[in-house]
Amino acid sequence: MAAGSNLAGYNTSHSRLTESRRIAFKTLGCKLNQAETEAIATGFKSLGWDVVDFGSSADVVVVNSCTVTNAADRKSRSAMNQAIRIRSNESDMLPDDGESSGLVVMTGCYADGHREKLEADGRTYVVGNDHKSLIPQLIDAHFRGEILPGHLENKRDPFGYPLAERIFRTRAMVKVQDGCDNFCTFCIIPFVRGRGISRPLDEAVMVVEEAAAAGYREIVLTGVNMSRWEEIRDEDRLGFADLVEACLNAKGDFRLRLGSVEPDRIDGRLLDLMTHPKMTPHMHLCLQSGSEKVLLSMRRQYTAAGFERIAGELRRRIPGFNLTTDVIVGFPGESEDDFADTLRFCDRLGFGHIHTFPYSRREGTRADRMDGHLSDADKKIRAESVRNLSEATKRVYRNSLLGTIQEVLVERAVLQPYGSLTARGFSAPYVPVKFSIPSTHSPQSVQNSFFHVRIEAVEPGEDPDLLGVVVPG
Ligand code: SF4
Repeated sequence: MAAGSNLAGYNTSHSRLTESRRIAFKTLGCKLNQAETEAIATGFKSLGWDVVDFGSSADVVVVNSCTVTNAADRKSRSAMNQAIRIRSNESDMLPDDGESSGLVVMTGCYADGHREKLEADGRTYVVGNDHKSLIPQLIDAHFRGEILPGHLENKRDPFGYPLAERIFRTRAMVKVQDGCDNFCTFCIIPFVRGRGISRPLDEAVMVVEEAAAAGYREIVLTGVNMSRWEEIRDEDRLGFADLVEACLNAKGDFRLRLGSVEPDRIDGRLLDLMTHPKMTPHMHLCLQSGSEKVLLSMRRQYTAAGFERIAGELRRRIPGFNLTTDVIVGFPGESEDDFADTLRFCDRLGFGHIHTFPYSRREGTRADRMDGHLSDADKKIRAESVRNLSEATKRVYRNSLLGTIQEVLVERAVLQPYGSLTARGFSAPYVPVKFSIPSTHSPQSVQNSFFHVRIEAVEPGEDPDLLGVVVPG
């Protein structure tokens, strides 16, 4: 069904025609979804809308959903129901002849994967990933009572987002790739995001330069399977390393970070680029399992041994490198021995953080049809073991930064009663750092600025901040 086709069912006669309209967002899932929400929010702002917190009164609530696991499905449904409840409560306060002015927009991968059900349910307006970048135009045109331009209905535009303003955070996310052709046996993403598609190199560089010119000091390249980025230019096939190199050479004063990366296309050139002065020493490299047998069954396109070689190369080139990862536990057929391989592997590699998912059945995937599904209880126990290990290796990594000088980009600063500011931001290896700044600065003036901080302590707890003191740059 074309985007916008069921919008006619929503009466917006009570919308605030003279005041500016209000929009709220709820985002589930990956960094790409977050980046897309930020860009959509910016699109609405440029059309005169106010962005308000989720839960406040709003004309439109956009739920940017996720379907990567059953838990993500549950959270997406719960966010949708919460948005619908808010909308209904507001309708109750309208006069008797009043009709709801609120609109709940469901977009993202859960919406794509459950489109028919959601449309039959009729309580939300569903916009697929293909049309997500057009949400500001579609909704604004609808609220103005305008006929939607026909070309929007058929346009697939995965990169047509405006550069996000600093509404939610200080880092600019630049989407360079969408979709995936890998079809890992557990993954629903190729079905809901579609086949792999790469943003043209020149356009990606232009957006990076725009972000730097707009004042962003950190730029993150994002995509569903970014290392598969490619462009055919003349006779040559440009690959991910070409894109990264071009972005590093883009004009502007910024540092570059890579969003999550699949290991199967990491080559020597990319590893060399990780030492570039503008590049941050951090990579989220998706492992999923440390067992060769399970990786094969997942149809991952690398081996655990190959992954370990990449990790070794990164650490050899860049001391203090922060390697983080994803691990799925309880994949069908994963034996105790296979799981022990994963634990040993993760322990040996000493990840700075492990994001753990219990395997979750997704209808339509090959893994769903495999034998040897584990009970939820077994998956929970294995997930807990990986979480405990992650906590331990994270602490070892963070302790290894004691005494180092980190360049910290401040995300927020709070004025303390005794006069100084407490600032918090992220170091280049993507570890949170807290420190004090003398009161000669205002909180606003230090936000989005770099400080050199000597690390003196590590907080207690599961996800500890580093604590430090400012030193001359
Ligand atoms: S690489 Fe595999 S896990 Fe990642 S999006 Fe593609 S199919 Fe899914």
